[in-house]
Amino acid sequence: MEDKPNISVLIPVLNEEESLPELQERLHRVMEGIKEPYEIIYINDGSTDRTPVLLEDYHKKFPCVKVIEFNRNYGQHMALFAGFEHAKGEIIITIDADLQNPPEEIPKLVAKAEEGYEVVGTYRKARKDSIFRKIPSFIVNKITAKLVGVKLRDYGCMLRAYRRNIIDYMNMCPESSSFIPALAATFAKRIVEIEVKHEERSKGTSKYSIFKLLRLNFDLMTNFSLLPIQFIGVIGVVVALLGLAFAILLFVRRLIVGPEVEGTFTLFAILFFFIGAQIFSLGIIGEYIGRIYQEVRRRPRFIIKKELF
Ligand code: UDP
Ligand code: MG
Repeated sequence: MEDKPNISVLIPVLNEEESLPELQERLHRVMEGIKEPYEIIYINDGSTDRTPVLLEDYHKKFPCVKVIEFNRNYGQHMALFAGFEHAKGEIIITIDADLQNPPEEIPKLVAKAEEGYEVVGTYRKARKDSIFRKIPSFIVNKITAKLVGVKLRDYGCMLRAYRRNIIDYMNMCPESSSFIPALAATFAKRIVEIEVKHEERSKGTSKYSIFKLLRLNFDLMTNFSLLPIQFIGVIGVVVALLGLAFAILLFVRRLIVGPEVEGTFTLFAILFFFIGAQIFSLGIIGEYIGRIYQEVRRRPRFIIKKELF
């Protein structure tokens, strides 16, 4: 029965020894309840705690539990890409290991996917995260919706279901950094978003530092459009024109009123503003060049140390 699973559940795991036992137990119960052949693939994204031991143990106990182990940490989205390459199901579910999204919501997603939706997204009812997490999320969601051209309420929620064809398309994208929900949205014709529960992280801590989150958002922006760089270009032109106008103004003033000295510091302020804008633009350009560099190097996106299938 395990030979051809109909449903694949993919779980990226980074140091989640506290959550794993409860997750595996609840997930097992939920999946057995669906009464369709399934597989659970854990992707160990370079954990340094007891995670690998636990996963190996589940693999021994449950025939449908499979494990992919990276040699180091490559990030949640790379872990999912590795999962996509190995998943055999017609319906592929992604879920976090930290139990913030209850596994009990999975049957709802499966039902929607079976209705024929290619991507089933979710939005978090009463999201239990700090305000510092929610405000940037809100902005990012709005921008992503614009960039990708698909309006979803919650691009950040990783409890999602995809049909086989979408996974096949994503497997054709060998880019070394990507944001999966946005990528899927660019391929799918039929997308639906359903409401799911969200819980506070009760065990372990968030695996996303501010720096990692920034990184992810840069991936999102630069991978899905050239908009940022074009926007910067336009700003550059406007700033230059304003600067020119200002120079002309000063020149005319000099002819009429005579030279001004007191304004020196205003000029400094303006100068600093322009310098700031320049550095910012350089940063954006660097971001794109860095990405081009990464792609032309053609290094493997991730290295799998061990597979338990
Ligand atoms: N995760 C991962 N690699 C990373 C960061 C996170 O595999 O580099 C996993 C983590 O174990 C969890 C999921 O991705 O299963 C979401 O991470 P987390 O809950 O820490 O993110 P948050 O809910 O704070 O956004
Ligand atoms: Mg979480």
